[in-house]
Amino acid sequence: MSDEVNPFESLQEQIDDAAAYLEYSPDVLDRLKRPERVLETNLSVEMDDGSIEVFRAYRSQFNGDRGPYKGGVRFHPGVSRDEVKALSGWMVYKCAAVGIPYGGGKGGIEIDPDDYSADEMERITRSFAKELRPLIGEDRDIPAPDVNTGQREMNWIKDTYETLENTTEPGVVTGKGKDSGGSLGRMEATGRSVMLTTREAFDYLGKDIEGATVAVQGYGNAGSVAARLIEDLGADIVAASDSSGAVYDADGLDARAAKDHKRETGSLAEFEGASEEFSNEELLTMDVDLLIPAALENAIDGDLAEEVQADVVVEAANGPLTPKADDVMTERDVAVFPDILANAGGVTVSYFEWVQNRQRFYWDEQRVNDELERIITDAFDELVSTYERTDAPSFRTAMYVVAIERVATAAEEAGIWP
Ligand code: GLU
Repeated sequence: MSDEVNPFESLQEQIDDAAAYLEYSPDVLDRLKRPERVLETNLSVEMDDGSIEVFRAYRSQFNGDRGPYKGGVRFHPGVSRDEVKALSGWMVYKCAAVGIPYGGGKGGIEIDPDDYSADEMERITRSFAKELRPLIGEDRDIPAPDVNTGQREMNWIKDTYETLENTTEPGVVTGKGKDSGGSLGRMEATGRSVMLTTREAFDYLGKDIEGATVAVQGYGNAGSVAARLIEDLGADIVAASDSSGAVYDADGLDARAAKDHKRETGSLAEFEGASEEFSNEELLTMDVDLLIPAALENAIDGDLAEEVQADVVVEAANGPLTPKADDVMTERDVAVFPDILANAGGVTVSYFEWVQNRQRFYWDEQRVNDELERIITDAFDELVSTYERTDAPSFRTAMYVVAIERVATAAEEAGIWP
């Protein structure tokens, strides 16, 4: 990559870009640009063969002025201190953008889970939960799923915490299985907010989603659900990719069948409903109406951004564009709808799960989806009114203006103590 960037620096640049439209003193902004604390720990875990392996793990608590720290834990070989710091900051501004009462946090283990058995993953996850125990709690810091983690890992974290604390506190993590206190609609929530953002964006831009062509990079939980729900709006998902490569069909792929194929075989490769296969990079620069990056950060750098042919980009991943790519997109008039709005459905339904856990009163799926729709469409309206009022150069900057204002107000109201 020509502009391989540190995601923590990307976050700080995004804050600086938006700060130009706000009147806060540099000392307030300084506090909003770095984490309050970061735990770095080494987990010693027994493997199935009796040997001991050590795994580096982190939890960053970025800002707690608007509520308890909130954010996922990711299991990936690329996890690093700076990545976790950046992701925890994005959570702060994501929660503020959609107006839910949380700060931001993020954690992760530097690991490729494919290399370990289920028993080993359980011991690794519980060992991490043991290290997290003093930091987390339903009023302190609430982990959730992220890349390569899901209900299984959340159930283990909850059980470890509750056992050690000798209590029941299902709201200590979100994204749990339904019978362990999970919310209906949580698994689909990230993809659902990508769909809602897309629907609102096309409407705002005066474009027709019906018959629009769409390419989706990344076919995990966010990308595959977004594809399915956007297909239901009448769009054609012409291309989808995962780490094995991209599949294409000019007439539109069947988004559900593609997901079934991936579930059965482990990848999108050789999906019989596609007419062609090509590289991930080719997918990102295809001539489509809508591009959805739904994999990891820094997927599109400045050079690649010059080649992007989509008119609209809706970010399902966290931080998929480098700052250079973002500038190029703005210059080229590509409408980019930012991660902190588009993928905020996950944490929003996590919030609903936490509310249900605390009240011990559970909602039906329709209520979850209706409340989510209200939150995302309200945030979208706030975004476009701020975009028009401030004349900000991009939707991302306008969304950060909204979010920073909320966090900075809470920080100022709290003051400095001691
Ligand atoms: N990992 C998701 C995100 O990046 C969800 C976080 C949560 O539910 O707390 O937004």
